[in-house]
Amino acid sequence: MDGLSDVESFYGRFVKSLQPAWTVIGPVVGADGVCRLQKLSEGAGDSCSCLPLIPLKKFLLPPVELLWRQSEESPTAAPAPAKIAVIDVAPCDLYALAYLDQTYVEDSLYLGRRRHLLLVGRECSPLSQCHCSPQAVPPAYDLFFSGDKVWCGSERGEKVLQDFSGVVKSRGDEVLPKEYWAGQAELPTKIAARFLQSVDNPLWAEEASRCLSCGACSAVCPTCACYDVVDAVSLSGEITRQRVWDNCFFRDHGLVAGGHNFRPERTSRLRFRFEHKYLGFGEQRGMISCVGCGRCQQVCPVGINLAQILVQLPLAEEE
Ligand code: SF4
Ligand code: SF4
Repeated sequence: MDGLSDVESFYGRFVKSLQPAWTVIGPVVGADGVCRLQKLSEGAGDSCSCLPLIPLKKFLLPPVELLWRQSEESPTAAPAPAKIAVIDVAPCDLYALAYLDQTYVEDSLYLGRRRHLLLVGRECSPLSQCHCSPQAVPPAYDLFFSGDKVWCGSERGEKVLQDFSGVVKSRGDEVLPKEYWAGQAELPTKIAARFLQSVDNPLWAEEASRCLSCGACSAVCPTCACYDVVDAVSLSGEITRQRVWDNCFFRDHGLVAGGHNFRPERTSRLRFRFEHKYLGFGEQRGMISCVGCGRCQQVCPVGINLAQILVQLPLAEEE
């Protein structure tokens, strides 16, 4: 391809070719100035390179999901998952998907939707809020576009590209270079040492005293995936079990049977969130659960910034 217009035209035609076999979703800025993932009617032409406020997780883990229903009427079969292609996905969100794929590896509802999700990544332009950097684990993607290059990250990606262009490009040929990956560079072990030295640091209480427990930071986080299970009985006798998004900033998140609450104060909830984002499962999964997208600081009404807290924690002494 010779120039930018050729690249855009190739990409635009590629995205259009996905319709109607796939429902094509991309980031679009609304009249209110907010970037959202929404269905595109005109292929890539509708989409822009903004970072959607509510990330991809909403397609894989709906905010409210029926798990089970018992009623006198005959049960209705669950609808088959829709085939969704999400385009213009930024590297940090592809990384977040790699994290969720590990977290929900045994969840049949997640996996059913994941199998019907085509991930088309694209090189992004970092915003002032971004603090991502290379990591040791590759992101999840089917295809990734950057300038006049395209990488295949799955057999499905290879097939879709081949069907469109006739180009056969194998996953083994080239690996997506590290500059396109997101994630945190500082090792979880180093952060853990700083955290353990700082558990009683007054910084936690100072920051938590401003927190409103609104949960916005967790709702927009691409790797936050806690849920609660809620049973309900209606007057008609129908019983339902649903899973609904939960939030570690809510007081009841740490409440267990018998009335004990592991995290009744905001300070402990803020510290727990930090621990979960920067340390939880880091060594097991090869990545931490903060991909540096900066959404949490963008939405926090009182300006609490986990990355800034990390910077302020005293450095651990080298052994
Ligand atoms: S903790 Fe904040 S910066 Fe990190 S992935 Fe979640 S929303 Fe993004
Ligand atoms: S968005 Fe800010 S105020 Fe709201 S729960 Fe998160 S840290 Fe607290």
